[in-house]
Amino acid sequence: MTISRDEVLAALERVPDPSGRGSVVAAGRIAGLMVKDGHVAFSIEIDPAEAAALEPLRATCEKAVMALPRVLSVTAVLTAHRDTPPQRPPQGAGQQPKPNAIPGVSKVIAVASGKGGVGKSTTSVNLAIGLSRLGLKVGLLDADIYGPSIPRMLGLSGKPRTTAAKKLVPMEAYGLKAMSIGLLVPEDQAVIWRGPMVMSAIGQLLSEVDWAPLDVLVIDLPPGTGDAQLTLVQRAPLAGAVIVSTPQDIALIDAKKGLAMFQKVEVPVLGIVENMSYFICPHCGGRSDIFSHGGARETAAQLGVDFLGEIPLHMSIREHSDDGRPIVALAPESPQAEAYMALAREVAARIETAGRPAPRITFA
Ligand code: ADP
Repeated sequence: MTISRDEVLAALERVPDPSGRGSVVAAGRIAGLMVKDGHVAFSIEIDPAEAAALEPLRATCEKAVMALPRVLSVTAVLTAHRDTPPQRPPQGAGQQPKPNAIPGVSKVIAVASGKGGVGKSTTSVNLAIGLSRLGLKVGLLDADIYGPSIPRMLGLSGKPRTTAAKKLVPMEAYGLKAMSIGLLVPEDQAVIWRGPMVMSAIGQLLSEVDWAPLDVLVIDLPPGTGDAQLTLVQRAPLAGAVIVSTPQDIALIDAKKGLAMFQKVEVPVLGIVENMSYFICPHCGGRSDIFSHGGARETAAQLGVDFLGEIPLHMSIREHSDDGRPIVALAPESPQAEAYMALAREVAARIETAGRPAPRITFA
């Protein structure tokens, strides 16, 4: 039998609250408790000003739960979201203030997909390296809580350092500054996080990482278009979004949902990119359109958004992204890398103007 919520709460009942109002549970501090197969996660609600002072409380709570039999892991985070808007995102922009810009970061863009497995993370990594090869200072934030794969794709491991000012130092790879939720918590724990915990962690990854100076920060979003993604999109100061789709119809339907999500929050969609667009044989170099290639281009035209390019399905893209050496860095002259460079040029041209006020026309 695995550990139950009640047993976890009973252990936390024995941890006194520093306010003197009984236990941490009685004081209403414990939120978002998740218990799954022996893995426990919860947040401890605090006033942001108390963060440093309450770190020992966080450790005590973790220890109290870890001491229970059949508990395999415990993740407790301090969150200060009591005064933030409710978990359920509002239906339109306008109702919520625009998120704050990140100091020293000129543009933030998101890479999204309507569903998993379409190559969103592979595209994020190669696009980010492509932008940096164009001479931009680029950061890559892996916000894919359901499967943080950027550390693997960039060959990163270990825990990030913190500065004296308690900011996380991004890791560096292939000229990029990179940070991933996967570097902070083990993968199996990230997936059991719930809305408020995810949002607070992502908020920290945006504001408490030493990103500056950057020309562009690329965020690899979790796949899909649910509430978590929508809230995330609302929290990040986005200049625009790139939607990744495969040519198959079903993925395109999902891409349309992605488009609708960004329209809802008034984030400009920079365009759609078709991944695994056509197959290039690794032996003879011959090309074949094994899927109905071109679907994303048509969908983009129908929906009135830009088409940003096509990335071939090629063994070298998979092999090198899976072993931590992205194709754009490893073989920049290859046709596959050139497809990503073309995408990077399209994106760079659009972020130049994204988010800028329309020029004022003056009459002499
Ligand atoms: P997502 O982020 O959408 O879940 P990933 O980027 O993790 O998808 O890609 C899923 C798998 O497909 C990975 O093994 C990746 O290496 C592979 N892949 C992605 N794009 C391509 C491509 N253009 N050619 C070959 N393999 C690809």
